[in-house]
Amino acid sequence: MSDSLASTARIKFWGVRGSIPTPGPTTVRYGGNTSCVEIRADGEIIVLDAGSGIRLLGQSLQHEFGSEPIKLALLITHTHWDHIQGLPFFLPAYSHKNQIRVFGYDGTRTRLGEILADQMATPFFPVSLSALPGKIAIEELKEMEFEIGRVRVRSKFLNHPGVCAGYRVYTSAGSVAFLPDNEPFEQLEQQMRNRGIENNGVRQFKSARDERTDLAEFLRDTDVLILDAQYTDEEYQAHVGWGHGSISSVVSLAAEADAKRLILFHHDPNHDDAMVDRMVEKARMQLAQSGKSITVEAAQEGSELILR
Ligand SMILES: [Zn+2]
Ligand SMILES: [Zn+2]
Repeated sequence: MSDSLASTARIKFWGVRGSIPTPGPTTVRYGGNTSCVEIRADGEIIVLDAGSGIRLLGQSLQHEFGSEPIKLALLITHTHWDHIQGLPFFLPAYSHKNQIRVFGYDGTRTRLGEILADQMATPFFPVSLSALPGKIAIEELKEMEFEIGRVRVRSKFLNHPGVCAGYRVYTSAGSVAFLPDNEPFEQLEQQMRNRGIENNGVRQFKSARDERTDLAEFLRDTDVLILDAQYTDEEYQAHVGWGHGSISSVVSLAAEADAKRLILFHHDPNHDDAMVDRMVEKARMQLAQSGKSITVEAAQEGSELILR
């Protein structure tokens, strides 16, 4: 690989929707597939989440590689359905020539490998995970820092029901932080209700204020910040503690962390394209008021971003 290629990272959005796929004419511009983002950097293919968008990625990889083997790393943030439901339809898993390493953290009661296998067990799906011909290795993470080839990855548990990690991927062209499901802490202890029970003691939370400081440090100066911005500020008032972000909370988090580029992600299934446009406008206005020069846009299925 030439030096110019080595210092370039390509980020592609294959699924940007939260909760459930939303096909149809009102979501055609931003897209209806659930969480899946691909990063190509430093000779690696790193896939973030396996929502329904991963089906399209699989077709594209198959087309690109033909009879050549595909090697990739799939990082799962958490096992809510919208983040794993595409895996049974991921074409590269159906060929013995391909090698898929799946990384993620165990759930509160069940191991990652069991959860991924369970959604493909009878009567939910006709082909079991173990029967897939592809070489699939599930690697349950214990550490909060690891490497994929030459790419360093750091992770952080987020404010979301159950065990949910965010990843920061350090490519040679810059870093990408992926937090598809997260409710930014804003000194509201109410946001933490039930978290202890849902986590079954797997992780201990500090105070909301300290968690917020830690999160801003984790995201400090990131080049691309892909962040859960499911709710408008008005909608959020009825969803405090549900584990998702609102426009003003993600804007303030991006500003506090001095991110360079904010990408609104995990669009609400009830939001049509016009609504997402309005949310981007709102975020831009709030960022302008903050005095920070952070660009903001909404993640759009099929779109690409190049880091140099
Ligand atoms: Zn989700
Ligand atoms: Zn979730």
